[in-house]
This record gives sequence, C-alpha cells and structure tokens, in this order.
Amino acid sequence: MVSKVVFGRGCFSATKDIIEPQRKNPDAPFIFLVDDVFKERTSLISRIPLSGNDKIMFVSSDLEPKTSVVDKISADLKNSFDSISGIIGIGGGSMLDMAKAVDLMLTNPGSSTDYQGWDLVKNPGIYHVGIPTLAGTGAEVSRTTVLSGPERKLGMNSDYTPFHQIVLDPELIKNAPVNQRFYTGMDCYIHCIESLTGTYLNAFSKSYGDKALELCEEVFLEKDDWDDDSDDKLMMASYHGGMSIAYSQVGVAHAISYGLSFLLGTKHGIGNCIVFDQIEEFYPAGVKKFKAMVDKHQIHIPKNICAGLSDQEFEKMIDVALFLEPLWENALGKNWRDTITRKKLRSMYEKM
Ligand code: NAD
Ligand code: ZN
Repeated sequence: MVSKVVFGRGCFSATKDIIEPQRKNPDAPFIFLVDDVFKERTSLISRIPLSGNDKIMFVSSDLEPKTSVVDKISADLKNSFDSISGIIGIGGGSMLDMAKAVDLMLTNPGSSTDYQGWDLVKNPGIYHVGIPTLAGTGAEVSRTTVLSGPERKLGMNSDYTPFHQIVLDPELIKNAPVNQRFYTGMDCYIHCIESLTGTYLNAFSKSYGDKALELCEEVFLEKDDWDDDSDDKLMMASYHGGMSIAYSQVGVAHAISYGLSFLLGTKHGIGNCIVFDQIEEFYPAGVKKFKAMVDKHQIHIPKNICAGLSDQEFEKMIDVALFLEPLWENALGKNWRDTITRKKLRSMYEKM
C-alpha cells in the first residue's frame, strides 16, 4: 500500500516540502518524469520545485509504457548520476507506471522484461512519488506497473512497486479532454464491476469497490454538469477502485483489452470501453449502466477495430489474453477454461 497520501485542491504546491526531506545529499537529484503533453503548459511546469541537479524529463505517452523505453531511461539515469534522491511521476496512468518501472530498474539488474509477472522484483527501488493528472486507472495506489514487452503486456507486480507518496490534487485533472476523462474514468468503473462481481471478492475489496462504484455513478450518471466536485470525486473513485483491485483482481474486460493493446496499441481506457461495450453476457447490469453513461456523455466508442486482422494476429491477441489466468479465474472461477476457449475468444474479438 502507499503509505503517504496528500489530497486537496492546490496540494501540488506542497510537493517541495514533501520531497525535500528525502534528498540524499545536495548533489543527488530528484528526477521528474512528466507527460510531454505538459511541455508547453507553463502553469504546471513552472510550479515543479527544482533545485540542485534536479531534472525534468518529458516522456511521451502516445504509446503505453514499453519495457524498452523503461530500460533506456533507467540506464541513462544510472550513467548520468552517482546517486538519485527520487523519481517523481507526473501524468496519467502511463506516466505513473513509467515512474514506478524506471524506479525499480535503477536497483534491479537486467531488463524490465525479466520482472513482468508476480513477485519477481528482487530489490526495493528508490523513493518514488506519483502525481496523477488523470483519474481512473488506480495506478497511483496499485502494486503493479503495466508494461508492454516483446512477448506480452504484463505488469511488474511486487511489494516494491507502490509509490512511497502520492499527491492527489484534483486541480491537475481539471482540464483533461472530455473523451479522455471519460475513457480513464470508465477504467475505474470497470475495475469496480470486475472486482465486485469476481470470485476473489472479499470484505476489503468490497468496501473500497462499493465506494468507488458509488462515486463513479454519481459523477457519470447522476450529476447533470461536470464541476470541481466531480473532479474531486473522480479522483477519490480512482483511489478506491485501485484499492479494491489491489486485494482482488480485474476480469474479462481487462484480459481481452490487454490483447487489443498488445497487438493494435489500443490505449487502456478506450480499449476497456471497446471491450466492455460487447460483453453484456458476463456483466449484464454493469454493461447496461455503462451504455447509459456513454449515451449521457455522448462519447464515441469505436467499433470494428479487429476487422481485417489475420488469423495469426487473432491468435496473438488470444495468447496475450489467455496468459492472464488470475483475471479469468477471478471472473469465472476455477473452471474458467470450460467457457473461455480459443474459439470463444476469437468470436468475441471479431465483434470488437
Ligand atoms: P494515459 O496516461 O495513457 O494518458 C492518456 C492521454 O491523456 C495522453 O495523451 C496524455 O498525454 C494525456 N493527458 C494526461 N493527463 C492530461 C491532462 N491533465 N490534460 C490533458 N491531457 C492529459 O491515460 P490513463 O488512462 O490515465 O492511463 C492508461 C495507462 O495506465 C495504461 O498504460 C495502462 O496500462 C495503465 N494502467 C495501470 C494500472 C496500474 O495499476 N498500474 C491500472 C490501470 C491502467
Ligand atoms: Zn484498468
């Protein structure tokens, strides 16, 4: 779990006071990994508290984090500095994951591909802080960093992955584009549905999942206009949704969406929406409400993105999806293989 959380409008300004006590020595910098969408936005960049050798590195999130990029950034940092005080990720789920993964690769040998899986990371990373600018993924609280590698899209799940500190400032998510806000917000909604209907559900996950679901429905279904209160609530929904899946698992939508992402580069939020739109048979009540939210916010959910794929490409997506056994077991129980055959998955992908 993340041990230190600061929440509140404007709390980004407290970043300097929060991180400075963690500085190892005057020469050891904090490295700010910042989504390059903010490059031109001086209103945020000018507030990043730099001192000494501190450095801002702008990183693109046009593609979701890749193991090759994680390996390159961490190698460059190791070559450039004898000692680093901490890694601060500022951005959506992509940049939070990038920060977590780069952090771990500063202290673990080899490539990040070696650690895609569960509890493979050997050494703790260094001090790392997450500052979200989108709300929904729960990456700010989760014990994973989801990476696309040469073989698969899979997280580095470990006790060393979670941030030491997160700074949750709803003012930072205020200007997110409406579509992106919806797609990432739906990631949270889908986390809740998959967690709350899963076989891994327990009282811990249920209490967080119930709260996150309530907040998602309030902001996306019940309120007529989006306001500051909506941003506050969506930020807390993301936190609670992430906590819910930390002690349970996601399910069918995520397993299938990972296949789309691996083969076609479909981003997580929109990919989950494309899949969830088509899987009413698994989550009837959840999908019905999802469709109502799509209508209410007049969001376009792409269709036919798998049209024209080759047999080999379908097989690759199916391989990626089937590899995620805990997700299937959570969704459908120990005998999930009776329902989820390669043929079934092919027919589902063909609908998307
Ligand atoms: P994202 O970080 O990929 O960003 C989506 C787009 O929004 C990008 O173009 C980015 O530049 C832009 N953006 C970000 N903040 C903005 C802002 N305030 N204003 C304008 N544009 C902004 O989107 P996401 O949905 O937050 O994250 C998706 C990623 O999170 C995927 O890589 C997924 O695998 C990962 N994820 C991780 C976990 C986890 O537990 N670690 C859970 C779910 C998803
Ligand atoms: Zn997700």
